[in-house]
Amino acid sequence: MAGEPQADCLFCKIVKGEVPATVVKETQTTLAFQDINPQAPVHVLVIPKAHYPDAAALAAAEPLLAADVLKTAGEVALQENGDKGFRIVFNTGAGAGQTVFHAHAHVLGGRGFNWPPG
Ligand code: IMP
Repeated sequence: MAGEPQADCLFCKIVKGEVPATVVKETQTTLAFQDINPQAPVHVLVIPKAHYPDAAALAAAEPLLAADVLKTAGEVALQENGDKGFRIVFNTGAGAGQTVFHAHAHVLGGRGFNWPPG
């Protein structure tokens, strides 16, 4: 069923505490933790605790939960990087570089970024 934990999902295991993570913020509906392979001085992943395979599926099924993820992302950016600006990335689909199929926002900061992104 949509939103239910998936036994083979790494981020569902982090939500359940079965896989360790460095949590920087938790809300009733979201969890934010350090990326294990940071691409910037600030690189935090923000996930809905409920399982949706990607950001588009999340927004289609639970738009208020998608908004929670964005709200937490903004709060984490302020907490970790002050008001210096940040980038939010949702890799969506393997063709766009998504490797973990539980919706997540990358919150990146602490350095400059190019546009268009690579
Ligand atoms: P994606 O490529 O957009 O799906 O991003 C997945 C992210 O998860 C990558 O940036 C990985 O470095 C990160 N990642 C993979 N395993 C872990 C983990 O166990 N803890 C924290 N981050 C992880």
